[in-house]
Amino acid sequence: MSIQTVGVVGAGTMGNGIAQACAVVGIDVVMVDISEQAVAKGLATVAGSLDRLIKKDKMTEAEKAAALARIQGSTDYAALTRAQLVIEAATENEALKVKILQQLDGLLPAETLVATNTSSISITKLAAATQRADRFIGMHFFTPVPMMALVEIIRGLQTSDATHDAVKAMALRLGKQPITVKNAPGFVVNRILVPMINEAFFVLAEGLATPEEIDAGMKLGCNHPIGPLALADMVGLDVCLAVMNVYFEEFADSKYRPCPLLKEMVAAGWLGRKTGRGVYTY
Ligand code: NAD
Repeated sequence: MSIQTVGVVGAGTMGNGIAQACAVVGIDVVMVDISEQAVAKGLATVAGSLDRLIKKDKMTEAEKAAALARIQGSTDYAALTRAQLVIEAATENEALKVKILQQLDGLLPAETLVATNTSSISITKLAAATQRADRFIGMHFFTPVPMMALVEIIRGLQTSDATHDAVKAMALRLGKQPITVKNAPGFVVNRILVPMINEAFFVLAEGLATPEEIDAGMKLGCNHPIGPLALADMVGLDVCLAVMNVYFEEFADSKYRPCPLLKEMVAAGWLGRKTGRGVYTY
């Protein structure tokens, strides 16, 4: 099936980034959200992001205008019916996502492929809630979407080869580098990343080194662009803890136990950059 139009559900951080990534390579986009305000904010974010590319001489005014003209914003799900692939990027809430997917089932042609950008909900479980389990897949983009090369393509147990191949081809069309992953908590990248951050908190709690030294160690010794503790502050300590709790429960393996210091800092409300204090003070 050839994909000319991509539907995006949710015009937030990820949704508008996905819309931009599609539009700049010439793919038509329909981006829906629940309010006119959210749609307008998503479109304005794309325009601002394209302006930054113009300033860096990576895009012309004409290319910006053409990309923006390819994105139709709407609050009406019916606008999605012209898409051959719909990517769900709404708020991370399982009940909400199930509701959206069932709404899409009633609306979209049977052959339309549906992907979800969820970070943490089981693709197999979401697929089972749809009428198109074989045409359903995870398409996990990274933030900021226009800059980040990786897309994790997550196959649920039910996902067909044809769906996988079409969605992988779409990721390549977007100029991304897809990796194919089986469904499991955290998929691949967050499964490795978040326990590493958790381990950095154990190292800190044991007093092995200062936060600055721990971060410098991982930057200089592993070529990471940012240290694990500074990254925890960016992601949010509460988010890191929530993810560790999911692994701890799902795998029932003590190797995923959240570091007590991480729990303690979250209890204190020291959540990172967003609260002005995490491991570091902002
Ligand atoms: P966000 O809060 O920025 O945006 C979510 C948008 O969904 C909001 O604009 C909201 O109005 C909209 N929405 C809510 N209910 C809706 C509905 N019924 N129909 C249409 N739109 C609806 O969130 P985000 O950071 O863009 O995250 C979106 C998804 O992407 C989540 O599943 C999240 O786990 C995943 N994700 C996020 C990141 C990240 O770093 N932010 C990275 C990878 C994946």
